[in-house]
Amino acid sequence: MDFRKVLSLVLVLIFMVTLVMVVGCEEEAAGPEPEEEVDGPVRWTIASGWVAGVYYPVSGAMSRVAYENMDNISLTAESSGASVANARLIGTKDAELAILQNDIAYYAYNGVQMFEDEGVPEMRGFFTLYPEHCQIVASADSGIENAGDLAGKAVAVGPLGSGTEANAVQILEAYDLTFDDLGSVERLTASEAADFLRDDRIDAAFFTTGLGAAAIEEVAIVKDVIMVDIEDDKIDWLLETYPYYSKEVIPAETYSGVPEATTVAVLAMVVGHADLSEDLAYEFTSMLFENIDTIHGAHERGTLITLDTALEGMPIELHPGAEKYYQEQGLVE
Ligand code: GLU
Repeated sequence: MDFRKVLSLVLVLIFMVTLVMVVGCEEEAAGPEPEEEVDGPVRWTIASGWVAGVYYPVSGAMSRVAYENMDNISLTAESSGASVANARLIGTKDAELAILQNDIAYYAYNGVQMFEDEGVPEMRGFFTLYPEHCQIVASADSGIENAGDLAGKAVAVGPLGSGTEANAVQILEAYDLTFDDLGSVERLTASEAADFLRDDRIDAAFFTTGLGAAAIEEVAIVKDVIMVDIEDDKIDWLLETYPYYSKEVIPAETYSGVPEATTVAVLAMVVGHADLSEDLAYEFTSMLFENIDTIHGAHERGTLITLDTALEGMPIELHPGAEKYYQEQGLVE
């Protein structure tokens, strides 16, 4: 064989080997994906509330203890308008857990009030947290002393999707007032409401939140504000008409320079979707109460979260996983 023939034979062989390799690779690439083991934690979202409120720091602490103590759940806290929006996020399964007011949980579960068109009967209770006072903050020079004086004034009535707005409607109702009787109705986030109060763009703002909320202190340290009173006979009417309100005092100096006031309060609570696994719900509940010190350190209101009071003011059916833990602890039969 002459040299040219050997060379062309070698070239043909190289070409064929390369072709086999390329086709082989392509076949492998086009073939079915190898079965992937999906290991790692289940991802849960907890719908919380205002960044300058109390739900957000408390749910952040819950997500931290879950991270530190659980391999099987990764919990992410997301801010939101709060209670009403959070109930709907449970209904649409856009959140596995949520913090909301117990009055709003009751309305959602039973399909009444703002949930008349679509209730959230698949919502289940985990535990109640701490009282949330209906705090109506007004400029000291606005002339507002009690909630009846809000007529004709510029008022922030609570963020869109908040429980605060529902409380504002009911408190005004106790005075035979509606939003139409206000000078102007502002729907602002909690932080915006604080900014508007500070800059005299509104006279007053409703905040149903734990005492010590950052949004209110941010105003109190730079401006002369008062806490608006609800009078005793109006409080009696609210307690009779709407379940879940209690009468509470906001002590003087809860916020810098702000005097005492009497108001109503509801309770914050954690809820979840009925479809959450019983085992994970049980583990989450027990893990939380075993590590409650971390939650206590997150916010002053966090210190009120205890196993003893976990079922106080519970307005809806318990999640079976949470219930199992309370049975073990002797809290329920
Ligand atoms: N309770 C408030 C609401 O639903 C939210 C409070 C907070 O985020 O701390 O309107």
